[in-house]
Amino acid sequence: METYSRTKPVWQRWTAKERKACLAYAEEYKAFLDRARTERLANREIIRQAEKAGFRPLSAYRKLKAGDKVYLDHKGKSVILAVIGKEDMRKGLKLVGSHIDSPRLDLKANPLDEKDGLVFFRTHYYGGIKKYQWVCRPLAVVGVVVRKDGSVVDVEIGLDPDDPVLYITDILPHLGQTQAQKKVGEAVTGEMLLPVIGGHGERKKSARETVLALFGKKYGIEDEDFTTAELEIIPADNARDVGLDRAFILGHGHDDRVCSYGNLTAILAAEPGAKTQVALFADKEEIGSYGNTGVTSSYVPDFIMDLLALQGHEDHRSLRDTLRNSEILSADVTASFDPTFPDTMEKTNASLTGHGIVLTKYTGSRGKSGSNDANAEFIAKVRRIFNAANVPWQIGELGKVDQGGGGTIALYLAAWGCEVVDCGVTMLSMHAPLELVEKSDAYTAFLAYKAFFESN
Ligand code: MN
Ligand code: MN
Repeated sequence: METYSRTKPVWQRWTAKERKACLAYAEEYKAFLDRARTERLANREIIRQAEKAGFRPLSAYRKLKAGDKVYLDHKGKSVILAVIGKEDMRKGLKLVGSHIDSPRLDLKANPLDEKDGLVFFRTHYYGGIKKYQWVCRPLAVVGVVVRKDGSVVDVEIGLDPDDPVLYITDILPHLGQTQAQKKVGEAVTGEMLLPVIGGHGERKKSARETVLALFGKKYGIEDEDFTTAELEIIPADNARDVGLDRAFILGHGHDDRVCSYGNLTAILAAEPGAKTQVALFADKEEIGSYGNTGVTSSYVPDFIMDLLALQGHEDHRSLRDTLRNSEILSADVTASFDPTFPDTMEKTNASLTGHGIVLTKYTGSRGKSGSNDANAEFIAKVRRIFNAANVPWQIGELGKVDQGGGGTIALYLAAWGCEVVDCGVTMLSMHAPLELVEKSDAYTAFLAYKAFFESN
């Protein structure tokens, strides 16, 4: 099969058997999207599937040998899976790094307010969003509350079809003259993102008190508990197909659960290799990878040091050699050429919907600033791996040179001295509440990461 083409979509290059496998994968991916809605829920779902496949926590091992399957649950928000290879680990790892956090609205620490008959949450958005896209749609609230005594309670409202949902109001067009004059970025401000969570009071209770009492009854939490909560407002919608031919999947957080699911299914399906295989599922990518669950924290090299120590290599040179010899795919989505907005992209260098997994040499903006800019030799090696394993791939960059740009975790992983290149799924409407991914593009993430894990 032709693995590289800018004229013939992957779907038209595939056999009936390959199409069938792609559609089966798409069904499982939709189920993953509906379960792994936040970084905490994704963490749990990834560990659930890994344990089922024989992965055990790092702490369960006294020493490690080839074929051992290990995982690290890092603070319930990030996961690392590893399959120990036959070769000395100091010759390098094969690592695929993806992230499991997605743009959303977080609740402020003192969120619950009542005004003029409406009870609503005050929010502070997380990641880069277009605020006007979040109004007038069904929303859910999901997350944890840590109570006064330290106990943690899971909150989930709006995902079950029988649940009520939350909703952010917008001004009616009849009275929208002033708003319509504003720039799109200012028409709905951060302070206007106020999901409605109630309205009925009772004879002796205000509407706010009534909502609080319902929270108390359902979750055993009181007003002050919101100060120590991590509650996220996300779309209430389940993932579903788009198109009469069912070519696309609509869902919240394809960025970056589409690459994370490819990463997970690839390491679970890959043949154990000569090299140790590592699948990283990081948090905080959308806000710069800071915080102790983002990749700028030391937990990933620490985990690698632990793997080395359990194989008898305790010296600092072992870590240095391992990192220096490692090869990494930074698994993150990129933007497809969108015919509705042709002026934002330079078409001959944009990735195309339905044309396979995308290699991106550099991201960044204003002259590659803040970019990893991968080495040609390494990209060539990945290209050989994909061609040999029949993986449809393309190469593209994010938008016109002066149009803006974006970042991934690639540069932070490159800071360890590893070879790194961005390699992810192309998509439409990135960072919208519901995003669009074409099914063959999603499936090529699995094919690409599996081929990479199995390569030497
Ligand atoms: Mn991403
Ligand atoms: Mn993103």
